[in-house]
Amino acid sequence: MTARILDGNKIRDEIKTELGAKIRALAEKQITPGLAAVLVGENPASQIYVRNKVKTSRELGLFSEKIERPASATTEELLELVRSLNARGDIDGILVQLPLPPQVDARRVLEAVDPAKDVDGLHPVNIGRLASGRPGLIPCTPAGVIEILRRSGIEIAGARAVVIGRSDLVGKPVALLLLHQHATVTICHSKTRDLAAVAREGDIIIAAMGKPAFVTGDFIRPGATVVDVGINRLSTAEEIRRIYRNPADKLRALEEKGSVLVGDVHPEDVAEKAGAYTPVPGGVGPLTIAMLMANTVRAAEMRRAGKRPAASSPL
Ligand code: NAP
Repeated sequence: MTARILDGNKIRDEIKTELGAKIRALAEKQITPGLAAVLVGENPASQIYVRNKVKTSRELGLFSEKIERPASATTEELLELVRSLNARGDIDGILVQLPLPPQVDARRVLEAVDPAKDVDGLHPVNIGRLASGRPGLIPCTPAGVIEILRRSGIEIAGARAVVIGRSDLVGKPVALLLLHQHATVTICHSKTRDLAAVAREGDIIIAAMGKPAFVTGDFIRPGATVVDVGINRLSTAEEIRRIYRNPADKLRALEEKGSVLVGDVHPEDVAEKAGAYTPVPGGVGPLTIAMLMANTVRAAEMRRAGKRPAASSPL
């Protein structure tokens, strides 16, 4: 059986095209959705994420502002910054890039964001709205997972979905979204007994655990749809040889780039056993920024019309 590859780059481009039309419609009403990205400290990964978010918003014609604060910033200073962004009429979305430095109370900072501008969907008000199926802003990566399934014609209603990982950022919101779309959902975590047997019950498996190539062929029912949220960086030949049966290409990539990305799902096994799967890179990853853009546009449409965003999808 040849597994179908669910191409995240293609779906991202479709979403960007659709957003372009919405942004033009807003421009006719003299509205430019605005996104403020708050970057604290010098974490290299965070710098890249924020740079990409700002770049994509500008490409799409959004107003975007990067606000940097030193690693020594205090909780009070960040609360003050968030309050000032809450008060600005030209800002529709506020994202505070995580992780924040250890001296900062990240929860307090996230809770200070106006829920109507919480484009990362991390405010307890939006989490509560998501849990109860009420209109709100939903976290970007989970929203991207659902978009991939939906746009690839994968039937969610009635399917058995197994979510591996229960983080607030990915596992829990994905499970809730699948549940709202009428899947029968099992949520697994590090204490789940016989994980492979539980995963094999899934028509849809969502892997979000942060463990390179952990989900092997033994976890996958033949023909299942596998969505790999994991992003793990391999930086030694030994790690690559441990995972890949045919490592030549990856070893070459390691020499050229210094590291190789792998998901939480075994890339060779999934291609052999699944019916459809998202690759890493090029699967879920590209959707995260696209959904942030979608949330920002949605937040602008709603806030400026005095309404609240829809619960299921910003698109
Ligand atoms: P996280 O907060 O570390 O959560 C990992 C979850 O996986 C936890 O619930 C943990 O269980 C579970 N887990 C860990 N080891 C396990 C095991 N051996 N068996 C079963 N469950 C296990 O990670 P996260 O933020 O959800 O991210 C997960 C992955 O997605 C990471 O690779 C991350 O880089 C990636 N990610 C990608 C994107 C994207 O844009 N594509 C966005 C966000 C995250 P416990 O709760 O029991 O500890």
